[in-house]
Amino acid sequence: MAVGNGEALLSVEGLCKSYPSGEARLQVLDGVDLILRRGETLAVTGASGSGKSTLLHLVGGMETADSGSIRFAGLEVSGLDASQRASYRNREIGFVFQFHHLLPEFSALENVMMPLLLRRDPWTPAARRARELLVELGLEERLQHRPGELSGGEQQRVALARALAGEPQLLLADEPTGNLDDATSESIHRLLFQTQEQRKLTSVIVTHDLRLAGLCRRSCRMEGGRLH
Ligand code: ADP
Ligand code: MG
Repeated sequence: MAVGNGEALLSVEGLCKSYPSGEARLQVLDGVDLILRRGETLAVTGASGSGKSTLLHLVGGMETADSGSIRFAGLEVSGLDASQRASYRNREIGFVFQFHHLLPEFSALENVMMPLLLRRDPWTPAARRARELLVELGLEERLQHRPGELSGGEQQRVALARALAGEPQLLLADEPTGNLDDATSESIHRLLFQTQEQRKLTSVIVTHDLRLAGLCRRSCRMEGGRLH
């Protein structure tokens, strides 16, 4: 299904997810509804443990819901099997985590190439693309460094480059600056926004940072298992 500007890229309806908790179950998401249009940036705030990461993991196809629907550009994500979900994640979604989750044994360049190699792109264009992104994000001097040789801010920039490498339609960022000092957070925020604007990306950014949330045109809060 073709999705033009202004139409929903992501449409979440009645999404529920619970986890076992002792004898009972903890109802983390209890009927989340969300419509995200192409080009929109949505900030999601909410208390720790309110289910923000759970929502991103479900939308990103990293976990499955108990019930409800997640439609992405006409595709019912909840109906995909594990290998279809892996392909959906790789092709449509860019994910930036709170902790960078870069592979420690690989260079910055190789980490950014990884999603492209996973989808069997040839090495040379994957390396070219990864290099361009790292240069764009100000890391031309850091291409061959391993994650452990980079600062926290540099690690998150590499993680952002990796998330963008496959030209995803949707960028999901889960407290991407939660682990950084104020000045570094600020520069990562700026970079996220520039990137988002330039590429007309659709994104969901989970953040504690109300200032960051304020920069987004749209923000909502997770509470009681729903978005408000
Ligand atoms: P947030 O990102 O808003 O801090 P999470 O989505 O990480 O919240 O977690 C919501 C709740 O679900 C928390 O109480 C957490 O402990 C619980 N939870 C998350 N993942 C699991 C899991 N895999 N197994 C059991 N409980 C989980
Ligand atoms: Mg979280």
